[in-house]
Order: sequence, then C-alpha cells, then structure tokens
Amino acid sequence: MLEEIKALDKQYYMNTFGERLPVCFTSGQGMRLKADDGREFYDFLGGIAVNALGHGHPKFKSALKAQIDKVIHTSSLYYIENQAKLAKRIVDATCADKVFFANSGAEANEGAMKLAKIYFYKQGLDKYEIITLDKSFHGRTLATVAATGQEKYQKPYYPLLPGVKQIEPNSIDAVKAAVTDKTAAVMIELIQGESGVRPMDKEYVSELRRICDEHNILLIFDEVQTGMGRTGKLFAYEHYGIEPDIFTSAKALGGGVPIGAVCAKDKIASAFEPGDHGTTFGGNPLSTAAGLAVFDIFEEEQLVENAAKMGALFKEKLSELMEKYPEKIKEVRGEGLLIGIQLEDTIAKAASMLLFDDGILVSLCAGNTIRIAPPLIITKNDVLLFISELETVLKKL
Ligand SMILES: *Cc1c(COP(=O)(O)O)cnc(C)c1O
Repeated sequence: MLEEIKALDKQYYMNTFGERLPVCFTSGQGMRLKADDGREFYDFLGGIAVNALGHGHPKFKSALKAQIDKVIHTSSLYYIENQAKLAKRIVDATCADKVFFANSGAEANEGAMKLAKIYFYKQGLDKYEIITLDKSFHGRTLATVAATGQEKYQKPYYPLLPGVKQIEPNSIDAVKAAVTDKTAAVMIELIQGESGVRPMDKEYVSELRRICDEHNILLIFDEVQTGMGRTGKLFAYEHYGIEPDIFTSAKALGGGVPIGAVCAKDKIASAFEPGDHGTTFGGNPLSTAAGLAVFDIFEEEQLVENAAKMGALFKEKLSELMEKYPEKIKEVRGEGLLIGIQLEDTIAKAASMLLFDDGILVSLCAGNTIRIAPPLIITKNDVLLFISELETVLKKL
C-alpha cells in the first residue's frame, strides 16, 4: 500500500515535503503508531509536539465522538458553548484575560501581530514595527514568514511584510540597538523549536521584559510549541518569572485537532473591537471540544507534572550518555519534554535514520540535532527504552 500512496502523493500532492520518511501510519495507541504494513513505531516526536495525549486516548476519543454526534460547526455568528468554556479554562490557568481561537500556530501568531499593531493604532500611536529573532520559527503565512528569522523560508517571498526585522537571540545589546519609537512588539519563542531546541536565557528574558515596559512595547511569546505542558509547566513563560502581554498556543492545544489561540491581557485584547479580526473555523464546537478534553485529561492524569518528571529523567540519562560518548553527543538542550540532542555533525543524519529503522520516531533539526517532543503520557520505561535505543545507535556510528 505504501508504494501506491507514494505514487498518488507524487502525482497529486504539491511537493512541499519532498521525499518523506517511508512509512504510512494507519493506527496508534498511546506511545505507539502502527503502519499499514504492520511495522510498529515508538513515537518520541508526538506529531511534532502535537499529540500530548499520545494516540487513541480513550477519553479524548469519546469526547470527540460525543461532540460529532451533537454538532461540528455552526459559525462565529452564533454563541459557541465549548469556545466560551475553553477560553475560560485558558484564562483561569494563565496570565491571559482574553482568548481568540484560530486554526493553527501561524494563524495564532498572525492574530498576535495584528493585535499588537491595532493596540497602538487605536491609541493613535505610530508604532507598528515587530522585532523577532534570528533562527526563529513562527509559521508559513506571509506575515509569519516575515517574522521567521530564516532566510531559506523568506527569500522566495520577497518583498516581505515591511516593519518586521530579526535580531540576534539572547543579546540585550541587539534588542537595545533594534528598538525604535516605532516598535510595537517583540515576539520570541522561549525555546526555539525548529532551529534546534535553543532556550532563551533567564536574564535575557527578564531584561527584555524590562526594556519592553520602559519603551511601551508589547512582549509576545510564541508558545505554539512550548505551550500546553510541553516544558513541564503549562506555558514556558512560567519558568521565567515574568508574564508576556500576548502569547500564542496551538500544537498540543487540540491534542491533534487543529486549533490555535491568541491569549492576551485585557488592556491589549480590548483593542480588538467588532469587525477588527475574525475567522470562519476558529474555535468551532469540535476543535474546542478537543481543547476542553485536553485540559480535562491533563488535570486528571497530571500530565504537566509528568512532563516535568520525565523531562528530568531524560536530562539525567542523556547527560550520562553524553559523558559516555563525548565525541558523539555535543550538547543536550531544552526543558521538560522538549529536548534537543546535538550530535557530532557527521553522524546526526545517520543517527536519525538508524533510529527510524529501529522504529523510533524523532526529528532532525538544524542538520545536527535530534529533537524529541514525546506525548506527555510517556512513562519511565519509555524514557529508558529511548535511551537504550539511542545508545545502540551511537555504538554503530
Ligand atoms: C509549529 C510552530 C508554528 C507554526 O504552527 P502551524 O500550526 O504549523 O502554523 C509557529 N511557531 C512555532 C514556535 C512553532 O513551533
């Protein structure tokens, strides 16, 4: 069947993903995915930080089935019970006062950028510039590509949205040099995911907060990847002891059902007035039922706490492995269950392929870093299995 699907994909699907890994999954349970040809894989990537509940979670499935039996979509012209309730869940659990739902991470970040601009526009202030970081990733829409500090994603789409510029990460001098009286917002990932799991320093983030306050600039955290328990806190900003003005969430928020969220303090959110922003699908009854089920299951199974515990275990075991293979493992980065294992440049690609051959799903980012972002339901045995598989692979290289 795989060959048949590959042929269809080649003929009919736009070739944005090139040669994909040679597998087609047809079912999943917990940490495991099963392919059409019977092969079984351990999912340590969680659909790129999406499947926080793992696969086929019984309570999640029944919540979705129940919602499908009731109603799937109604439109934003009418009140939506799940949407209102999920917004409350997010507000109760975070520093935000108001929420707006979109369908993806990029769209949530677009919403955040629009909100920052309109916030100053409504005050009659000429502040529209948005500063982001080199090596960042904020999405694939035109505005978020302008915000994404990676030339390979930007170049074909010049001219980009004006007023968006990138600076060096973790450098307060760079922030000071870039800020002008036109700066509306600084948007960052607290841990840069796609570019190799690169965390921001604590001092950098608190100084950034101070500079934003001093210059009347909004601080936006793109928590599309770091959010929803991934780092061992519900949102990664909690590690830093400061609060953003706006943050976004997506990936794990719907447990696999597409949803994104723009979350903001009241003072800023109120800049959006009727007609200023909108969406057809965003926050519909089905995707917000998914979000509500994710919150319920997180609480019942204490998954954020589990992410912290299992993340610590990973860190301990990976540093042992690094001591054992110092020439092969260069650095281990990340927080909780968002982990980057930087390997020696020449072996990284081969290591990720060997892991795949052994039925272990990870992703290779920045050319030399194995990223893992497993479901938050992961157990101690799963962690130990990964460590032993990684060691087996390292021995071969
Ligand atoms: C994945 C990701 C996005 C884009 O999300 P999409 O749902 O693919 O649009 C934006 N920001 C960060 C930090 C991400 O990891």
